[in-house]
Amino acid sequence: MAQRVAVSDGAAGSRRTSRVRVAVRLRPYMEPQDEKQEGPCVRGLGPQKLEIVNWRNATETLQYQFDVFHGEQSTQQEVFLTSVKPILPHILHGQNASVFAYGPTGAGKTHTMLGSQEQPGVITRAVKEVFRLVEFQKKDLDGWEYSVGMSYLEIYNEKVLDLLSPGSQDLPIREDKDRNILIPGLTLTPLSSFTDFDTHFIPASLNRTTASTKLNQRSSRSHAILLIKVVKSQRGPPHRQQTGKLYLVDLAGSEDNRRTGNQGIRLKESGAINLSLFTLSKVVDALNTGAGGRVPYRDSKLTRLLQDSLGGSAHSVMITNIAPEYKYYFDTFSALNFAAKSKQIVNRPFVRETVLAPTITTVKRTGEEQEAGGSGE
Ligand code: ADP
Ligand code: MG
Repeated sequence: MAQRVAVSDGAAGSRRTSRVRVAVRLRPYMEPQDEKQEGPCVRGLGPQKLEIVNWRNATETLQYQFDVFHGEQSTQQEVFLTSVKPILPHILHGQNASVFAYGPTGAGKTHTMLGSQEQPGVITRAVKEVFRLVEFQKKDLDGWEYSVGMSYLEIYNEKVLDLLSPGSQDLPIREDKDRNILIPGLTLTPLSSFTDFDTHFIPASLNRTTASTKLNQRSSRSHAILLIKVVKSQRGPPHRQQTGKLYLVDLAGSEDNRRTGNQGIRLKESGAINLSLFTLSKVVDALNTGAGGRVPYRDSKLTRLLQDSLGGSAHSVMITNIAPEYKYYFDTFSALNFAAKSKQIVNRPFVRETVLAPTITTVKRTGEEQEAGGSGE
């Protein structure tokens, strides 16, 4: 899957499947150095590239290229500004958008999406920005009224659960005649401000994280999905209405659970997680290679739910989180192969030194980014 070639937005647009932008974020090295003095096995090479040890051949290094690479020094603010902020205005114009955090457990998905009080992540920043954009539009007195609402749900074992209504049952996913995806019965809480959002979101997200330690690290096995919906209604006739949806998703861990020896119920959970993540990888692959084949949205709950907000006319970003320690090596390797636009084998051993990635400014995707490793169109 690594030999993926970018399809330009124009070409993809004419096929009505828009590319998913792929960013990779490397978190800082955290494991105390062991006796073997292994150090990190991944390092950044610039605003779009990184390299990783080649486990098959220590005299070689593998280099990967993405739309954006966020190095270990990157801040929450940089990740938001580069990878998320640019897609937000679309949801005020009746278009959909989605942001996912992908990667193995421990690599920084929740840090990226949720963050902490001191280092707020994508969710806080995106919701604030949506309210800022709405306020700005309101001042314009353009004849439209805006309302913002939120839903918060979880997909666990292929069941859709409402996190704003604890104890609710598996909810159905439907499609209306205009191909919009809906979940009848899902709580949609109206929001008048960011503070309002915080009031509803914090207890629900705490519920989920506290429960997780009791339930076999449930948070690493389920997909947490926050939906921000902006409805724009015309004040006068013909009273048109437009709805824009923004999905902010903290995905289940991408680690291969077969290797960790899970059995019984855990194994069943792994299977279900793998189904949703595996299907997501097939969907992203189908969208990004623009092969024109069927996009298998219906094969899992996650992709079915996101069908109207991933590909098509939607704006999507996948932030692949990776960790530099050796114990994550194989999970990092498979996450990179999923995320990469191109991969190249370089004939020299991995160099154990840090490169400070230059501060990311605007990163443009161009046609000539392909490295030797990429296949042709
Ligand atoms: P995941 O959700 O993918 O399992 P977490 O977000 O919980 O991973 O991250 C694992 C640990 O690493 C947490 O203690 C988190 O605070 C820390 N961490 C992750 N990313 C970063 C980062 N970019 N900078 C500093 N600490 C980080
Ligand atoms: Mg997490």
